[in-house]
Amino acid sequence: MAPRYLRHYWSDNAGVTRTKVEINGGVKSSGVGLALADQAQCMSHRSVPMGSGIGSVGDIRLIPDRETFVEVPHLKNTYRVIGDMFRNGTPWDLCPRNYLKEAVLRAAQNGFTIRAAFEPEFYLLKLVEGKYQPIDNGLYGDAGTLSGISEWIDTNVISLEGQNVFPEIFHHESGPGQYEMSLRHADPIKAADDFLIARDTIKSISKQLGITATFCPKPLKEEIGNGLHLNISIWKQDVSNVPSVHCDQKLSANALHFLSGVINNFDAVIALTCPSSNSYKRLQSSSWSGASKHWDYEDRSAAIRIPRSGISPITHMEFRAIDATANPYLALGGIINLGIAGLVGKHEPLDAGVVFGKLSSFNESMKKLEGSLLHTKSIDSNLFTAYQAVRNSNLFTAYQAVRKSDYAYCKKLPTSQEEKLFIERY
Ligand code: GLU
Ligand code: MG
Repeated sequence: MAPRYLRHYWSDNAGVTRTKVEINGGVKSSGVGLALADQAQCMSHRSVPMGSGIGSVGDIRLIPDRETFVEVPHLKNTYRVIGDMFRNGTPWDLCPRNYLKEAVLRAAQNGFTIRAAFEPEFYLLKLVEGKYQPIDNGLYGDAGTLSGISEWIDTNVISLEGQNVFPEIFHHESGPGQYEMSLRHADPIKAADDFLIARDTIKSISKQLGITATFCPKPLKEEIGNGLHLNISIWKQDVSNVPSVHCDQKLSANALHFLSGVINNFDAVIALTCPSSNSYKRLQSSSWSGASKHWDYEDRSAAIRIPRSGISPITHMEFRAIDATANPYLALGGIINLGIAGLVGKHEPLDAGVVFGKLSSFNESMKKLEGSLLHTKSIDSNLFTAYQAVRNSNLFTAYQAVRKSDYAYCKKLPTSQEEKLFIERY
């Protein structure tokens, strides 16, 4: 029997999770129709920005990825699926999920497999006299606050596991009412899907329980921000290429090349990972937000930290200069593209602990996106067989128009309104 409600999910260029509900849509659903212009939508206002390269004419189809079809435990009679955008029967070059697929393919063509995991932080808030306030005054790892939200935890974990999304560690973070739920690593597409679903589930269950959950980078100006740290590992024929074969407490040559590829293009990466006015409020020194353009072992101020236990081998690299206003497919796809370019091009290893200049501003980072190696484009109608790196792409033309328009709009808002907008959208 067809599920009563089938939710079709996608992530737009502003990083907002969107869905259309198909009534009586089943596992054989052929998807839902969207306008091209849906990928030129802003999050702060309702007009389509100039310069997106997208007009009012044109249809795309959001076609379900059947592997993501699953029942949603916390919603009555509801299933969900994540879609890929197709135009005229072929993958659309503006589809963010396809962009990540191309990056994964690029890694595979060079003999590498990538695993990834997102580590979302979020605040739980209550609206008191029109102002959002944290639900508790807890501290980092505060045991006392957890019993107050045991029903919240149980409902979320049951729903996520039912949707094949596996939270691994949950704890109170250092801000009042701030929590973190890290997700199990997976292939990059599933990792990005999992973050989308985890945020939607947590926001939705919180709402059912009278709470507002927000993953936005800086919801409360006096308090620490929300990161969305991204953990990445590189594999070759099922063997991790992260630790050095000489000393498993240090990085391998391949991991160092990968890191250099990313850090050498960091200004462009930031345009995908920290792409909003609210992002820059989080990116402050002494806030552990990865606002310093360097990598190091164990260093929580670094844009890229290498966690090291001293007991077991190093397993992954942690990208800290990333937040939930990013589109997770584009952010992860961009990092993979640059990392693989560094790896294949054997980029000179960069020294640990050396800061490579200032972090770029929003405008500088958007400018750096142009002509960067982040662009790839299918050169075959079958996305999964060929791609090439191109100077610019239609995808990033639309992306930049959306992000710049939202940035300009949000910069003019008084802080309280800007915070409210980001709290609700993300
Ligand atoms: N909340 C910090 C951030 O904005 C991170 C704290 C931590 O290391 O978990 O990224
Ligand atoms: Mg944390």
